Amino acid sequence: MYWADLTPYRHEEYAAIGTKAIGWLSAKYEFSQGEVSPEFRDLLRFFCSHSIMQMRGFHVCEFCSDPRSEASQEDGLWLGNAETRVFYQEQVYAAPNLIYHYVLKHNYKPPDEFINAVLNGPKPGSKEYENLLKQIPYLDL
Ligand SMILES: [Zn+2]
Repeated sequence: MYWADLTPYRHEEYAAIGTKAIGWLSAKYEFSQGEVSPEFRDLLRFFCSHSIMQMRGFHVCEFCSDPRSEASQEDGLWLGNAETRVFYQEQVYAAPNLIYHYVLKHNYKPPDEFINAVLNGPKPGSKEYENLLKQIPYLDL
């Protein structure tokens, strides 16, 4: 499944209005690459360790040598079997938790507005974050 960064996230039944897709990469399409700050990397790991929609879909990394391999593991986190949400200034971003692997292993650099949202938006576990999560329709937490 490929969605270009910042295009509408199309699982309508699980999407808050205007949810934007981030990190739905495919080997068939180019993606932006570059350095990210250690602060962003660490926070992204934190978001991915608070995944939602476990096993609703399964994504494998198309850039690694064996595309049939099961979920990737990074720093003890299993990736590929869930998604994460980032909220900032009325925006909602939906990313596969595999995004952490893309950043670490494939030099993926998400759009600046997403990096900014991860750095400055409410963090998983906070009351503000959990309340925003509850507003996503039909999400079985
Ligand atoms: Zn990979």
